[in-house]
Amino acid sequence: MTRKSDTVLVDLALMGALCGTGCAVCGGSFSLGETVVLALGKWEGKRHVHEREARFDPKTGAFVARET
Ligand SMILES: [Zn+2]
Repeated sequence: MTRKSDTVLVDLALMGALCGTGCAVCGGSFSLGETVVLALGKWEGKRHVHEREARFDPKTGAFVARET
């Protein structure tokens, strides 16, 4: 996994796939063309969160959700 592969631009397909769940950090929905990242957090595996709500951890090579 690299920083680039965990960064995604929201397209229609992704919007449809995530419309039931939304952002794992704030619970908000995603907008078309928005940048989201796959981040580790208080959940299993990686989930889509807003880019500003995660930071990249160079040690693990993965995005980690910011504590709110
Ligand atoms: Zn969010």
